[in-house]
Amino acid sequence: MSDRIFYVNGSFVPESEAKISVLDRGFLFADGVYEVSAVIDGQLIDNAAHLARLERSLQELDMQAPCSPEEIERIQQRLITENKLVEGVIYLQVTRGAADRDFGFPEHAEPSLVMFTQVKRIVDNPVMDKGIRVISVEDIRWKRRDIKTVGLLAPVLAKQEAKTRGADDAWMVEDGFVTEGSSNNAFIVTAEGTIVTRRLGNEILHGITRHVVLELAAKNDLKVEERNFTIEEAQSAEEAFVTSASLFVMPVVEIDGKRLGTGEPGPLVRQLRDLYLAFARRGL
Ligand code: PMP
Repeated sequence: MSDRIFYVNGSFVPESEAKISVLDRGFLFADGVYEVSAVIDGQLIDNAAHLARLERSLQELDMQAPCSPEEIERIQQRLITENKLVEGVIYLQVTRGAADRDFGFPEHAEPSLVMFTQVKRIVDNPVMDKGIRVISVEDIRWKRRDIKTVGLLAPVLAKQEAKTRGADDAWMVEDGFVTEGSSNNAFIVTAEGTIVTRRLGNEILHGITRHVVLELAAKNDLKVEERNFTIEEAQSAEEAFVTSASLFVMPVVEIDGKRLGTGEPGPLVRQLRDLYLAFARRGL
């Protein structure tokens, strides 16, 4: 068991005491939403955007917020301090609370809020030098992927299939087009140097890192197209990469066994990663 301090519904407790009810609707129905914010040098990265997306997820599901975003950030800060977190992530989860099992919304449940920290090497992620290899899988998720719910069985199966097949991650495909990575947004770079990623809609999560990367690209006069692309187009792309709060910008060097370019992380993905790191340290 870890010696971390967890936050559970108003209390800061060791893992052995970090417990919620078996009737919690997050556990019974995946009736909950979550966020993951990165921490670098003990500082939260782009946290306001994560808390804004949390508010939106809650609203879309008609779920009560457990407290204000300001209060959530105070709890995050205290967890950073209690756990002496220098680099890693803070996970937070809100559910519709505990009530006797019944599908309809409970009348008297209080939302539950759970948070914990995880140590991770983000800036000097050792995987960065090699990049990751992805496989494609069918996107079997529901139709509201823009809501960040804890219903994550499809990505769990996708990542496990990747592991079984000797790859690092999976890109999900629907109607012939890549939607996104199992827990990240997917990008390719064309021969002309244009950065291509799927446009926003209910088919993908509106990634916080994706948003910043597209802004940074625009500011640095890089060409961006938000449109669908296929696995075949991605396999013949110059470069490819994924973005997420815990990976920042991570090169993809192989798709379904086909190496991209030289098989090494390319110059554009390195440039975008550097731009993102500078943003993380200083802001836009
Ligand atoms: N898509 C999916 C399906 C994800 O789970 C995530 C990470 N939570 C992302 C994209 C990336 O989003 P963000 O940059 O906000 O972490």
